[in-house]
Amino acid sequence: MSNKYKILVIEDENNIRNFIETVLSANDYQTLSASTCEQGLLMYASHIPDLVMLDLGLPDRDGIEFIQNIRQTDTTPIIVLSARTGEKDKIEALDLGANDYITKPFGTGELLARVRATLRNNRPGSGSGSLPGEKFTLYDLTIDYDRRIVYMKDEEIKLTQTEYNILALLSYHTGKVMTYASIIKEIWGCSDDGSIKKLQVNMANIRKKLGSKPGDNQYIINELGVGYRMNEENL
Ligand code: CA
Repeated sequence: MSNKYKILVIEDENNIRNFIETVLSANDYQTLSASTCEQGLLMYASHIPDLVMLDLGLPDRDGIEFIQNIRQTDTTPIIVLSARTGEKDKIEALDLGANDYITKPFGTGELLARVRATLRNNRPGSGSGSLPGEKFTLYDLTIDYDRRIVYMKDEEIKLTQTEYNILALLSYHTGKVMTYASIIKEIWGCSDDGSIKKLQVNMANIRKKLGSKPGDNQYIINELGVGYRMNEENL
């Protein structure tokens, strides 16, 4: 038995598919590939990959249908390969259960970072919160989950309960983009017309308290029109 992660790449553009396969193979991942949605579903069923990289614009069907199909039964992580600049497509894919997206064209570093983050976020038991005594660190930021205290270097940062909850939520999913809707659902349970505004206000306060200047993405990346992502040190 190989311990290698098996990654299924569903993409009809040969040069992009070959590029992804080459990069993944060179980094010790096992790859499988398909160029249509139908072929992808068949490959998925017979090989049960650990991760799927999925183009949305496939010749036979929309990649969205692949996501809907798989999510009826499986939680296998899916990274959407999107050439589309439309945020609507990305949000739709994420809210239907895609784990992340990467916008074409992308480079080797970004591709590998997304794959690593997605596989890590989907380990059994991850994503559901923190273990007792666990702390999160990123550059100067430390989150002490047990005590619900946040430090920059050694100085405590005073956050409201809501601000803390948002920051902790993003940190549980480091490297993964979280849509506005998914954050709002986790933090407030329900949404109304003012929810996004409320989230943006909280996020602005968090960034200010963490000492981030506008345009400075050291801790939280603003994925414009889509959501927020906690940065990773190795990106
Ligand atoms: Ca395509």
